Amino acid sequence: MANEIEDKSAGSKENIKALVEGTIDWEDAKKMMRMSPKDEDRFVKYLEVLQERVSWKEKILCRMSEHLYVVRKDDGSRVVKCDCGHELGDYRVNWKLSTKIRVRRGLEEISQAYSLKEVVPNPDLIDAREYYCPGCYARLAVEVVPTGYPIIFEMLPDIDQAHAKAGKPLADQSPDWFQDKTNELISQWTKKVKV
Ligand SMILES: [Zn+2]
Repeated sequence: MANEIEDKSAGSKENIKALVEGTIDWEDAKKMMRMSPKDEDRFVKYLEVLQERVSWKEKILCRMSEHLYVVRKDDGSRVVKCDCGHELGDYRVNWKLSTKIRVRRGLEEISQAYSLKEVVPNPDLIDAREYYCPGCYARLAVEVVPTGYPIIFEMLPDIDQAHAKAGKPLADQSPDWFQDKTNELISQWTKKVKV
């Protein structure tokens, strides 16, 4: 996929559109974000193409995965938003905490959805966790982990840096945007439970 992106000449909007409509994901997006200065324009076009594909108006700052984006809201906050429009909170907090989670435990349940017999040494000790958008029920992520393992925060994107590198620094850039705030939400929940 990387080579395919590199080979596209000058990154015309049509080419970018084709890539976006294919299987471009965060890995590819990261590659596009590492572009040389002459490709700055491609980054802007990439975001424009993504924006045209969604039905809502909040400005897309970054694509996280097939369904998820980081957008800027009118109040200046940056949140994770599903293509269906459902919002999953401050992007600095692991968005999985705002999904509907289904946990499959044990080989029997897991094997209903996956063929893991060969790769999992002790299936009795693992869970397959599925994260669903509460708005459209698209499955947003799956992780197979030991039972009780903390929810994995796959990535906190450095959005300011990506835009700055593309020659389009964001007006509201600040070091505060690049901080994992997941534990703040969890401690809020903990307080609620105690009350
Ligand atoms: Zn959704």
